[in-house]
Amino acid sequence: MTTPPLACQPHDHSHCISQALAEAETLCSRQGLRLTALRRRVLELVWQSHKPLGAYDILAVLSEQDGRRAAPPTVYRALDFLLEHGLVHRIASLNAFVGCDHPDHTHQGQFFICRQCHAAIELERTAISDSILDSARSLGFRVEAQTVEVVGLCARCQTAP
Ligand SMILES: [Zn+2]
Ligand SMILES: [Zn+2]
Ligand SMILES: [Zn+2]
Repeated sequence: MTTPPLACQPHDHSHCISQALAEAETLCSRQGLRLTALRRRVLELVWQSHKPLGAYDILAVLSEQDGRRAAPPTVYRALDFLLEHGLVHRIASLNAFVGCDHPDHTHQGQFFICRQCHAAIELERTAISDSILDSARSLGFRVEAQTVEVVGLCARCQTAP
């Protein structure tokens, strides 16, 4: 019996959020980066669940819950900052963002995305990125970024009624 990944199990998600924020603070202070209130809030919103969240959803919450008139460019800049420093990943197929489980080191984004509950399960297999690089090399293709997005049903959704 395989254990479904945490993202698909009922769990104390407040722990995931506080851990992600704490890691972000450590990472920023170590690298001398400023985790401004808005950047922190945007990261917290991205971490509201394990489902990727679009920029417009973030803007909507900011104006509804926080009464903050955040202009779209401000939110995009905050997201760019989070992306650049590996705190979130962009899921191109959903045009949405998801928090990174292990922002402490650079890696390529590899995801299983459940089409039912929309959880994005991050995996980190260097074998996958290595084989992409190998194929690229043999074709003379220069890789600039690689994100692998695999769509399907998570273990939990397969058994759900
Ligand atoms: Zn969680
Ligand atoms: Zn990651
Ligand atoms: Zn699912």
